[in-house]
Amino acid sequence: MKMALNYETKLFINNEFVAGTAGRQFPVYNPANDETVCNVHEALEEDVDRAVDAAHGAFSSWSSLSANERAGYLTRLAQLISRDAQELAELEAQTMGKPVELLKKMDIPAAIGVFNYYAGCAYHVLGESSLNSANFLNISVRQPYGVVGLIIPWNASMIMFAFKVAPALVCGNTVVLKPSEKAPLSSLKLAALVKEAGFPPGVFNVVNGFGTPTGSAMALHPKIRKISFTGSVATGKAISKMAADSNLKNVSLELGGKSPAIIFPDADIAAAARFTHYSINHNSGQHCQANSRVLVHESVASQFLQELKALMSQVRLGGPSDPRTFQGPQSDRKQMDHILRLIDVGKRDGTLVHGGKRYGEKGNYVEPTILANVPQTSEAYKEEIFGPVVIVNTFKDENEALTEANGTEFGLFSSVYTNDFERAVRFAKRLESGAVGINCSVPVRAIDMPLGGWKQSGTGRELALHGLNLYTELKTIFLKYGQDNNSLALHWHCREA
Ligand code: NAD
Repeated sequence: MKMALNYETKLFINNEFVAGTAGRQFPVYNPANDETVCNVHEALEEDVDRAVDAAHGAFSSWSSLSANERAGYLTRLAQLISRDAQELAELEAQTMGKPVELLKKMDIPAAIGVFNYYAGCAYHVLGESSLNSANFLNISVRQPYGVVGLIIPWNASMIMFAFKVAPALVCGNTVVLKPSEKAPLSSLKLAALVKEAGFPPGVFNVVNGFGTPTGSAMALHPKIRKISFTGSVATGKAISKMAADSNLKNVSLELGGKSPAIIFPDADIAAAARFTHYSINHNSGQHCQANSRVLVHESVASQFLQELKALMSQVRLGGPSDPRTFQGPQSDRKQMDHILRLIDVGKRDGTLVHGGKRYGEKGNYVEPTILANVPQTSEAYKEEIFGPVVIVNTFKDENEALTEANGTEFGLFSSVYTNDFERAVRFAKRLESGAVGINCSVPVRAIDMPLGGWKQSGTGRELALHGLNLYTELKTIFLKYGQDNNSLALHWHCREA
């Protein structure tokens, strides 16, 4: 039975849901039928100022708590997310189309796990110590930035929320978060849970709105000391420029991908097809790490294509609330049109093997699609399609495969399918990406392993203890002891020649 949903639609500042000062609202649509779900309040520059002031006001006492106390809040929030999993899943499904069952299986457990993990890391916000300089005990400490701005996309809002909010808060920062204008409802529901978990007012704030003016106001804000962003390469570059032009705030970026899967003849071809299919079809292909390019050895290409085609033919498209649905709609009309345009480019430059059209006439559905022999110069090959579309090209030898795999500006994830151990290690070493899957594809991920991109796929690493480093400044403290009053040179360990 479908539950009646309550929509929080206002901004969340100082633990209260408040209207934007200008009273502006924008609609949020359901991509399964293009109907309006609700109108959401928009934050303009003055609202971002209000949220930053609230976060600024809360910083001193929040950062002064013990690690144990901050961890306790995170643990309580994780428990509340678990309690309200069904409601959170339905809110998210209504705005960006991911199936409720997938959200309950993947996004919500991931968010709970990340909050619990970082609660457990609270005592690992640590520096170093050294007795290597005579008459000194030197230490370094990690301290929070102050107010941090977190900007997240729509394709996995609750996961991105947890990846950023949990480490930022546990390190003692206070937060202003901007969810995507396409999917703000789950973040607003999570804000209500933050309040229920007892977090002090001002520690966590949400400003709804578009890239401009809301996101830009954050990137330019003089009191925000750090921005952590997940989204497209173009927006990541724009935010970096704004950060540099304002107060040179620290920026970390998780950006797009065009992840290759390389399949050798000695691999389990059926398993490679299963992994590739799941990677590109779950969440309607809207996964930054999805294997959108397959490079398969020419001797097994037809076998692989046959297996992949069979799996793609069985994909059940439908409404996100239907438990039988495997692939929901794309996030909105604009996203669907973008995908269909690039499919047309791929058809023109290569060969259509499967799918290739809009599915149905209502909602923003795209058929699972396979394109083959698309040249590396094609826009369809170079651009992130961010839909259920995979390009399958063939190769003759290892060097050719490696050159093509590394031949893009992205570097988020790569997969290699082989049973040759030495080849697997050679590829793991030479592939230019933040992660490599041997005989597996995304969504493989581990909370205690770093996640991030090489090249234009990003800067910085989320998850694991690396995630803590994104939210702390490092300070060195020189503690002098004893009677030695020698010059600085002594402490550099310099010796006269
Ligand atoms: P997007 O860049 O359009 O938007 C992301 C967020 O940035 C939204 O909240 C948006 O409102 C905001 N934004 C847009 N313009 C802005 C500006 N000028 N200043 C400040 N904020 C601005 O991306 P999207 O379409 O929401 O998300 C899809 C993209 O995210 C894909 O490229 C995908 O690969 C990427 N992504 C990457 C990862 C990762 O971990 N590397 C994870 C998920 C998604």
